[in-house]
This record gives sequence, structure tokens and C-alpha cells, in this order.
Amino acid sequence: MVYPLEGDRGIFSADQARSAIRPLKHYYPRTRVISIEQTANMTGGVCWKVEQIEALAAVAREHDLRLHMDGARLLNAATALKTPAASLTASCDSCWLDLTKGLGAPVGAVLAGSGAFIEEAWVFKQRFGGAMRQAGIIAAAGIYALQHHVSRLAEDHAHARILAEGLAAIPGIRLDPALVEPNIVIFDVAGTGLDAEQLVARALVEQGVRFSTVRGSIVRAVTHLDISRADLDTAVAAAAGAAIHQRHQAR
Ligand SMILES: *Cc1c(COP(=O)(O)O)cnc(C)c1O
Repeated sequence: MVYPLEGDRGIFSADQARSAIRPLKHYYPRTRVISIEQTANMTGGVCWKVEQIEALAAVAREHDLRLHMDGARLLNAATALKTPAASLTASCDSCWLDLTKGLGAPVGAVLAGSGAFIEEAWVFKQRFGGAMRQAGIIAAAGIYALQHHVSRLAEDHAHARILAEGLAAIPGIRLDPALVEPNIVIFDVAGTGLDAEQLVARALVEQGVRFSTVRGSIVRAVTHLDISRADLDTAVAAAAGAAIHQRHQAR
């Protein structure tokens, strides 16, 4: 059973975690793990900070739970916070890191934890069909990503800010560029008269730009190593074009 917690833009507190732990009754599921998503995707890539993670680790220790970091974008958080990834994971029992997404490998991810945990994880990997003798060639791309693409993540973050400022200047689009930390830009298009799906469809058809729909009037954009500085202008123009088109229609 998953018990989602409503946090502050994806970041929940140690007190919230503590009060979500179910009492030991035979009719309740046993609470085993606290899981945090680094960075919090759907709230715009908000980063968990070391103190927040340590506070959760203390709750986990008090109640004999494990603390897992779903760290798909851990290295984006490390870059944005200027904190070593090792400091962000030091109090976690296990961590997941994606080699794809911002790091740009075609496939692959890393699970880290104690030796005993990884032994157990291997068994589940085999059981779920994850046996792959030929994984070396995939690992090579992942190693390349770790060696060459971590130091350039700051560029994606700078791009996200530029994109956010461009989008915020479009009438009818609402977002606060100051809240954009790493590489995810979430914005509200309600004021354009379009919903998210309509704006996303127009940007794709008219300019070949792929935004994604979150829900309702909420749209998401991500910067990564395939997005250049010039692409940002194309993306802003695509959003502006869709919005203006709508204003003409409304007249
Ligand atoms: C993408 C993602 C995953 C899955 O990673 P894969 O490399 O696709 O297996 C897990 N957790 C989070 C938070 C993600 O964003």
C-alpha cells in the first residue's frame, strides 16, 4: 500500500511522515519504507535538501523503517544545491539514479544500497525478467554519461530559467521563474483560454515542439542535453504562437 503525502511542492516534513506511520494492528499494512523523489518531478523539480533528508532518516530510524531515495534526478539536485550527491544520499538506506533523462544515456539506471540489499535486489531483478548477459554495452553508455554529462547539468538549469522567463512573459501563461531550480518548468496556461492538451497539441503541430500535459491547464517542459539555447526561443515562440492563435479565435 502506498500512502502519498501532500507536501510543500513535493517536499513533506518529518512530522508528516511520522504521523503517516500506521499503528501496529493486524488489520493495517505494516509501514516499511519512506520514499522520497529527488527531484520532485510534478512540482517543478523541487530539490530535497540534506537537512530535510536527515530529518526523515531520524524518523525512519525511530520506527525501524528504511529510507529510499527515488533519485532519478539526484545529480540535478546535487548540481542545483551545490551539494555533493554523496551528502544527499548519506542518510538514505537505498538510492535509485537514472542514467537516462538529464544524463543522456539511451537506457539504464543504478540502484545503490548495502551489500545485503543489493544481493536481494538482484534476485528480484532476475525474477522480473531483468536478466541480461549483454548489458555491458549499455553500461558503457552509462559510464560515459557519468563521466561527461554531469558537469554540464548546470547548463540545463540555466536553460530552464531562460525558458521560464520567456514563458512567463506570454500573456495568459502563469509561472514564477524564481521557483525554477533545476531543469523542469511547470506552467499554467488557463489564462490563454486553452487547456494543457490544446496548447501542447498546437505547439507540436505548428512548431514541432513537445511540451507535456500534467493535468487540466498545467503544462510541463524539461531541458536536457538535446535542447540548445536556440531551441528555447523556438519553444517560447511555439507557446506564444498557440496562445495568440487562441486570442484571435476568441474575437
Ligand atoms: C524515470 C523515473 C524512474 C524510472 O527510471 P527508468 O530509467 O525509466 O527505469 C524512476 N523514478 C523516477 C522518479 C523517475 O523519474
